[in-house]
Amino acid sequence: MISIGFDVGGTNTKVCVMEEKYKVLKEFMIETPNRNGYDCFIKEISGLIVSLKKEFSRFTISGLCLAIAGDVDSVNGVLRYAPNLNQWRNKNIKHDLEKISNIKCFIENDANMAAWGCYVFDTQKKFNDMVVFTLGTGVGGGIIIGGKLYRGSTSTAGELGHMIINSGGRKCGCGNYGCLEAYCGTAPLIYDAKKRIRDVEDFIKKYSFDGDEITPELISKAAQKKNDIALRLWSDYGYNLGTGVGNILMLLNPECVCFCGGISRASKFFMPSVKKRIDEYGIKTPGRNIKIIVSKHHNIGVAGAAAFVFEK
Ligand SMILES: [Zn+2]
Repeated sequence: MISIGFDVGGTNTKVCVMEEKYKVLKEFMIETPNRNGYDCFIKEISGLIVSLKKEFSRFTISGLCLAIAGDVDSVNGVLRYAPNLNQWRNKNIKHDLEKISNIKCFIENDANMAAWGCYVFDTQKKFNDMVVFTLGTGVGGGIIIGGKLYRGSTSTAGELGHMIINSGGRKCGCGNYGCLEAYCGTAPLIYDAKKRIRDVEDFIKKYSFDGDEITPELISKAAQKKNDIALRLWSDYGYNLGTGVGNILMLLNPECVCFCGGISRASKFFMPSVKKRIDEYGIKTPGRNIKIIVSKHHNIGVAGAAAFVFEK
């Protein structure tokens, strides 16, 4: 038995073919075929499935799982809305792909699949109650309760980036004010950096080897060299993230919190202030017993999607 996972982004789609014991047989990336409309997308994904069927003909394919950034109805396999996929609305991907491929198909939110990936590959399902924060361009998340992915009543649970950490605070991409993402997304981090660094050009010249833009990696390089502003930026980032984590600890009292995504690579700079912030919460027990880990895997979303098929 094998599964095929897809992590469908606005630009690229990652694909993972996995054996039942979570062994990855093949992993690759294609350009997301979304330029010529939805029907073309279905046709190209189906074509890819046909060629993988041939390549892995000695196995039975038990299912497909597409992880998509957007509002997903995972019960019915409908993509309600995807901002990065030509703003597609109400597409029944499950129905359309199953009809052509004859293989069972699941549609899930990408952050939920990243969370499942962390649960399977980073903790080997050791913690029954676990919350994952995906830290990248935006902030997302996923919740595992009792060893199961918690989706909520409309498959919308785990939108951790849009919990409000500062009422009436900064405007968020979602239209609301004070969301975690408005403080811990990539854009606000860079915005803060540009505001605080007096001579941006000089800063870039000093710490960058390969670019002329301020990026999270550049801020990490500067922090590594003990630049005060960079250290402060990460410490503030951690403090804000810590407010989000602290709220989740008060709400769910999980055993483990895991950070994944590109910005999690800077965890050594922001982790102390995450912990400090959690410690400020008046109810101490959830924070004292929490294990906070950082995912060791890249492409955790697509691996999580492939692994998730075997739970069905
Ligand atoms: Zn928001």
